[in-house]
Amino acid sequence: MPGVRIEIRGIVQGVGFRPFVYNLAQKCHLRGYVLNDTDGVEVEAEGSKPDLDRFLHGIRSSAPPQSRIVEMKVLKIAPQGYPDFTIRESKKKDTRTVLVSPDLATCPDCLNELFDPEDRRFNYPFLNCTNCGPRLTIIQDTPYDRRKTTMSAFKMCEDCSQEYLNPLNRRFHAQPNACPVCGPRLTLTDNQGGRLSTTDQISTTIELLKKGYIIAIKGIGGYHLACDATNNKAVSVLRKRKYREDKPFALMAKDLETIRRFCHLNPSEVELLQTIQRPIVLLKKKKVNLIAPEVAPLQKNLGVMLPYSPLHHLLLRNSNLILVMTSGNQSDEPIAYEDKEAFGRLKKIADYFLFHNREIHRRCDDSVTRVFSGKEMVLRRGRGYVPLPINVDLKFKEHILAAGAQLKNTFCLARDNFAFPSTHIGDLENYETLDFYSREIERFKKLCSVKPEVVAYDMHPEYLSTKYALSLKNIKKIPVQHHYAHIASCMAENKISQKVIGVAFDGTGYGEDENIWGGEFLLADLKGFQRMAHFKYVSMPGGDAAIKHPWMMAISYLYACYGEDFLNLNLEFVRRIDLSRWNLIKQMLDQKVNLFLTSSAGRLFDSVSVLLNFREKTNYEGQPAVELEFWADEKIKSKYGFEMTLEQDKFVIHPEKIIKGVVDDLVKKERKSKIAAKFHNTVAQIINEVCSRLRKECDLDSVCLSGGVFQNMLLLSRTYALLNKNKFRVYTHHLVPPNDGGISLGQAVIANQRI
Ligand SMILES: [Zn+2]
Ligand SMILES: [Zn+2]
Repeated sequence: MPGVRIEIRGIVQGVGFRPFVYNLAQKCHLRGYVLNDTDGVEVEAEGSKPDLDRFLHGIRSSAPPQSRIVEMKVLKIAPQGYPDFTIRESKKKDTRTVLVSPDLATCPDCLNELFDPEDRRFNYPFLNCTNCGPRLTIIQDTPYDRRKTTMSAFKMCEDCSQEYLNPLNRRFHAQPNACPVCGPRLTLTDNQGGRLSTTDQISTTIELLKKGYIIAIKGIGGYHLACDATNNKAVSVLRKRKYREDKPFALMAKDLETIRRFCHLNPSEVELLQTIQRPIVLLKKKKVNLIAPEVAPLQKNLGVMLPYSPLHHLLLRNSNLILVMTSGNQSDEPIAYEDKEAFGRLKKIADYFLFHNREIHRRCDDSVTRVFSGKEMVLRRGRGYVPLPINVDLKFKEHILAAGAQLKNTFCLARDNFAFPSTHIGDLENYETLDFYSREIERFKKLCSVKPEVVAYDMHPEYLSTKYALSLKNIKKIPVQHHYAHIASCMAENKISQKVIGVAFDGTGYGEDENIWGGEFLLADLKGFQRMAHFKYVSMPGGDAAIKHPWMMAISYLYACYGEDFLNLNLEFVRRIDLSRWNLIKQMLDQKVNLFLTSSAGRLFDSVSVLLNFREKTNYEGQPAVELEFWADEKIKSKYGFEMTLEQDKFVIHPEKIIKGVVDDLVKKERKSKIAAKFHNTVAQIINEVCSRLRKECDLDSVCLSGGVFQNMLLLSRTYALLNKNKFRVYTHHLVPPNDGGISLGQAVIANQRI
């Protein structure tokens, strides 16, 4: 009678793996045990040879849906003579490599109970089971056991204990198991902290929302600010109090049918909305819809998610509400997640607070994603995705920390075959975000068992992530150029290592010549890159001021194209320019003071956008480009001209003809929608032509598209179509964002190559 010892690695804790093994062992008439340890799951089993074979096959073929087996080692051992099969106490080892599960949306079984008046968990906002519920956000340490989660504060009642201990129950070893008798509870207060006298917090919250109040609602990875999304006044008040102009708010609606009332849905989007990650999905807004215009001004899309916690289902199922559910913070601070802190920070924004007493151990923002060409494209990676590793087709030689970029920061940890991108951290511009960044690095290192020996960082000397990396002691430091990191990130997630043509279009990135790059064509593999083509340098008067105030950038283009004569152009844009400010800018441009040179594609989009529609300042990153896409009429196929020259072995793309084309059209009073479309078509055409030239020179036919500019769906789909037609193999992002949130993955793989 043989015996085996099995070690299973991967996401095997918090997903019902032990009960699964237990039940399978019973079916196969085996004896032995299963336990969680700090590396994963350990099993010993003995029985007949055919039973053992059946058992091993079963583990591989029918593991729980949310688990992910990365490695399974099977060792023959002498039988120990176990009397039965048991689940044993968890074991701590010196190593800890177990992968932690992300938070999981409420499963259909739990939903049925939630709305079943006969069930003991009827209307209970914290029910969960082995297939669903909070994970990452409540786990304090591994191995995953109730006492190492924030649920340790709640002692299970008799009924819950029985479920927890019964191997045939679907709550067998469900660590956050709870019920109305023993589990977390809701409290509803006003913004002075006074409790509302109600026995039904949910109904009262619904009433308040319907009256137009703003409620801070404690969720899974932090607080949301919620209000009625069809009430324009409520949404405007929220905007004002949150200091958030224009940047779109996310929505939550109870089901697909409701979403169809205001957005178009294709089958891939339907699927994505319903995944267990439950991300915010960007969907095309219907022309006529009931959503308040203030939710997403001048946007083609709305970000929408389905309910993912029992509390959300209770708020939405019978209320007919569609909610704004935006991160609980003021402007760009990180999302609030601790009760006291949340109350302090949000009491000026929210009228009421819906608290609960299950502590959130770590903050995790909602993820934002969309469908491109039938596949998911993640734009912000957070709840539901983190801490899942990205499987890359290489082995990290040492443990690596990649510090990421400045805006939309994520960092990335790497070991073995895994890269672990962090949750969305945010813009490293204020103290709170920087503090979150450095603390989350420490906590994530522990969670992912990474002890960095190498740190990779952006070359930009002023990035706070760079300064953080340089301040670390006793660690190898490897700088990585920004756009190269973009391309490497796209290569890594697509598992390609051969040379590619990398098209990196974004707003800002520090170049090797110390200029601001952003419209780059690189010849790249993981060993290195060569800059083959770029947009012609233009002056950026005032540096970052020209990003904040895009009209300054547009003036720079006009001055470069027309000299001072641009002031005589019959353009609304010119009439809006304050002459005293123009004189200041002219001085900068003429005397070359406080001036930076940039090849940024993002700045070109900004400039064309403000030429069409003057805007004093940008209220969120990329706003002018988002609006340009919003105006563009997709039926228009015409385009502008452009020129390309060869300068010092590099192709330089001259945008003069584009700017002049736009200006001529504006003078002719051409429709904004036509000009915007022609501009998009032109940029796609440029990419296609430059890639064709590079193919001839370098004999390469793979193209990687990366950088924040490719969040623009019109540009991306036009470019993709042209390159495909031209027989290129085109790679885009799916797993990490094309924007600077994807930089850290690229930094990690490049650093690994350079060690
Ligand atoms: Zn469940
Ligand atoms: Zn209970």
